[in-house]
Amino acid sequence: MKDCLFCKIANKELGTEVLMENDFFIAFNDINPKAPVHVLIIPREHYQDITDIDGRIMAELPVFIKALSEKLGVSESGFRIITNKGKDAGQIIFHTHFHLLAGKDLGDLI
Ligand code: AMP
Ligand code: ZN
Repeated sequence: MKDCLFCKIANKELGTEVLMENDFFIAFNDINPKAPVHVLIIPREHYQDITDIDGRIMAELPVFIKALSEKLGVSESGFRIITNKGKDAGQIIFHTHFHLLAGKDLGDLI
């Protein structure tokens, strides 16, 4: 989608370092990390949020997360996946994305 920051990253227009990619998703470091490991996973295609994404693409997410967590070296220590939808959740980028947080004790908020 025109003027979408994450579409530009998915299309390799911004020079953002890609950590892992496949036919469905691209992963890159969050610019403002909230944990020692803070990676964003985005679908290549533009979907506004988790309620908008195509279920067939969503079904591919666990495989991607498994491979990514292994590459990042956090598959054993663990990680948290978060997605924000809408104002109260603090969503600021309206190209759906999944935060992978790891590398420390993430606490017990949820
Ligand atoms: P959310 O609140 O879920 O919409 O989070 C958007 C996330 O995108 C935030 O954690 C930002 O730090 C991150 N972010 C914004 N711009 C960039 C960028 N150019 N590269 C990497 N991460 C970004
Ligand atoms: Zn987009």
